Amino acid sequence: MSASSHSNPAHAWRDLPHHEPPKRSPADRLADFLEIYGSFDEETARQEARRCIQCPEPQCVAMCPFGNRIPEWLLLTAEGHFVEAATLCAQTSVLPEICARLCPQDCLCEAGCILAEKSAPVAIGSIERFLNDYAARHGLEPAQPAPRNGCKVAVLGSGPAGLACASELERRGYAVTVFESHSTPGGLLVSGVPAFKLDKSVVEYRLEHLRKRGVEFRLGMKAGADLTFDRLRQEFDAIFLAFGAPRARKLEVPGADLVGVVPALPFIIRHNTGLPVEVPQADVAGKRVVVLGGGDTAMDCLRTAIRAGAREAVCICRRDEAGLRANRREYENAVEEGARFRFQTLPLEVIGDPEGRVAGLRCARVEPAPVGEGTATPQPIPGSEYVEPADLVLVAYGFEASPSAYLNQLGELARDERGSVMVDEHLMTSVPGIFAGSDLVRGPGLVVQSVRDARRAAAEIHAYLDQRRLRENWADQTDHVASE
Ligand SMILES: Cc1cc2nc3c(=O)[nH]c(=O)nc-3n(C[C@H](O)[C@H](O)[C@H](O)COP(=O)(O)OP(=O)(O)OC[C@H]3O[C@@H](n4cnc5c(N)ncnc54)[C@H](O)[C@@H]3O)c2cc1C
Repeated sequence: MSASSHSNPAHAWRDLPHHEPPKRSPADRLADFLEIYGSFDEETARQEARRCIQCPEPQCVAMCPFGNRIPEWLLLTAEGHFVEAATLCAQTSVLPEICARLCPQDCLCEAGCILAEKSAPVAIGSIERFLNDYAARHGLEPAQPAPRNGCKVAVLGSGPAGLACASELERRGYAVTVFESHSTPGGLLVSGVPAFKLDKSVVEYRLEHLRKRGVEFRLGMKAGADLTFDRLRQEFDAIFLAFGAPRARKLEVPGADLVGVVPALPFIIRHNTGLPVEVPQADVAGKRVVVLGGGDTAMDCLRTAIRAGAREAVCICRRDEAGLRANRREYENAVEEGARFRFQTLPLEVIGDPEGRVAGLRCARVEPAPVGEGTATPQPIPGSEYVEPADLVLVAYGFEASPSAYLNQLGELARDERGSVMVDEHLMTSVPGIFAGSDLVRGPGLVVQSVRDARRAAAEIHAYLDQRRLRENWADQTDHVASE
């Protein structure tokens, strides 16, 4: 059933109450690492979807990186046609149940909702979550492999970019093998984003779906080390590189090497998953934890530390509250859970005790960074120095592509000075047939950007292999004519 076959709902949003998704109380959610939001029930999803006024030029669509057909699936939801709505939603979004949970909708689709000017925007993200949870519960997504076209593609890395690219290529008939260096697939969706934002069963659902459609996962295989690129190039018609940006930016102040200065990601992994990590255990129970940084990773660290029993969790970031890079919703969740913030503050030195353990941070206040300002270090305001007591310092300054030695096997692979892989307008690297995208190319970003890159890369790989097939057919035909 197409959305256009339904009549427009009355523009009655003024009379319809806005619904927020169910959310656990801070006291309840601090007792575990489970997701804090629940799904709408059917009636609430319908009521909230009814608020959409079906704009003629919907800005929610324009602001969605996938161009999701939001008003159409909201209309179907309002009318109770959940199956059709979920099917339409999945047509443009490859990992919809994951994006519904992780996208910063307040600066994407919901920021484009015209109701935001007069009331609360339609809760698009929560309705998307409801629809996709509904589809998963009722086993609605077709799980048969598409007819094969005879070509094989290797996807290196199983984060959101790798999974999305594999999904898009499989739909087009490619035999896809995903190589993943870890023993668990999912990339940062599993070993980064905490379970209180994204339950791991949601990722497992998507992985299982891909397996059923015939995508092969080869785990514990580090491309370039366990498997040479030469071998991969012989075995596969094209390759998509989706290694992510795993190298953590360091704290570069005196004392940064003291015991108790710990990188953010292994700390989050250790507390949110059972995955092995290579750094010593950082026990936070009863401790005063200071988190450095103002992005999503910093928020996740604060909230993880509080759940793990920290006495206090304090965030030090150089921006002001309005300029915080983290998702607003997650910042507010961190505040609700008891995190405290020192805005416009810069660490100058980590202070140690006589045993060489962290005891505090010498900090200074700074002017707020101008809008659009990059990473230039602001100047401390004279006389504003103070000491922030700390038992543990978690460094959450973001990530960059790692100039790993194994990529050197691809001698001709062009990279920029930060180690990020360079691609042309078709997302092809300087090595023909090898494509790349997501954090490995752009640096750290959002899941929605990873998925968008991956979908584009899949389309470009398809076009490249199609052209190759045409050239080969043409060469066969000319040989045939010549031999007659
Ligand atoms: C703590 C944290 C919280 C975040 N929260 C959010 C959020 O709320 N919302 C949001 O939109 N984004 C969030 N992000 C960002 C998001 O997770 C990333 O942008 C996204 O995961 C990048 O996807 P990717 O596929 O490029 O890389 P990754 O997810 O990093 O996956 C790369 C994969 O490649 C594998 N790999 C690397 N080298 C090799 C090799 N040689 N051979 C085989 N495999 C290899 C790695 O093991 C990994 O599994 C968060 C990130 C972090 C760290």
